[in-house]
Amino acid sequence: MEMSEQLKEGSIRLLVLGSGTSTGVPMIGCDCPTCSSNDSRDRRLRASVLLSWMDGVFERNILIDTSTDLRQQSLLYRLKQIDAVLFTHPHADHIHGIDELRSFNFIQHQSIPCYGSSYTLGRIRTMFDYIFTKTQAGGGKPKVTLHEVNGKFTLFGRKVEPLPAMHGDMEVYGFRIGSFAYLTDCNFVPKSTIEKMKGLKLLVLGAVQFKKHATHFSIEEAVELAGTLGADKTYLTHMNHFVKHSKLQKELPKNIYLSFDGMDKLV
Ligand SMILES: [Zn+2]
Ligand SMILES: [Zn+2]
Ligand SMILES: [Zn+2]
Repeated sequence: MEMSEQLKEGSIRLLVLGSGTSTGVPMIGCDCPTCSSNDSRDRRLRASVLLSWMDGVFERNILIDTSTDLRQQSLLYRLKQIDAVLFTHPHADHIHGIDELRSFNFIQHQSIPCYGSSYTLGRIRTMFDYIFTKTQAGGGKPKVTLHEVNGKFTLFGRKVEPLPAMHGDMEVYGFRIGSFAYLTDCNFVPKSTIEKMKGLKLLVLGAVQFKKHATHFSIEEAVELAGTLGADKTYLTHMNHFVKHSKLQKELPKNIYLSFDGMDKLV
């Protein structure tokens, strides 16, 4: 991976693999100004990020969600190693790339630990039952080990704290590691989670479009929440094709930015 800065002990490197909503941007069949834009920041793969941190002498790569575009993301950013996956929720755009973990199994020769709520992992077991049932030899299946989490846990020397929030009536997880947090696909954050999001340096927060949405924060709602949470910097993600990067970025308040595919930051 080509990165702008060196990863040091105690830091987290964030790489945005996808900043788009479930359809991706451009949308199939759409000729709108965003979908036909030449600005690379208007090309959004499905939402996912890669976090890296040092665990002693090892650099660990932790993927949040296995998006529909995981293969393309892995090739684009030359990913060679995935040490763990954190799952936010079981919607198609966040889990449909799970089969691509096979390629990392081929390299790493071991099962990849995956973390999520009991609901999320239950849905993954049902939706991808072929992974978890005995089938004929050949072809190969992803080797993953599911770990249910419902509170803070340690992963490669760092504390990871699930951040429960509501995505319509589905509970999703965001994740906090140190002064970084990632929370997408929600339209309500309970007080107990807001308490867990104090003192952040960098927050990646989901916001789908300008208009109010049944299960996602709108841009306006996300900006308001970002103000309440008060992270040093908040980057919006999971945006649809109504969001033209260059236009909206100019209108956002201080310390609130639009993320884009390929954006990398050290926290
Ligand atoms: Zn989504
Ligand atoms: Zn469009
Ligand atoms: Zn969702």
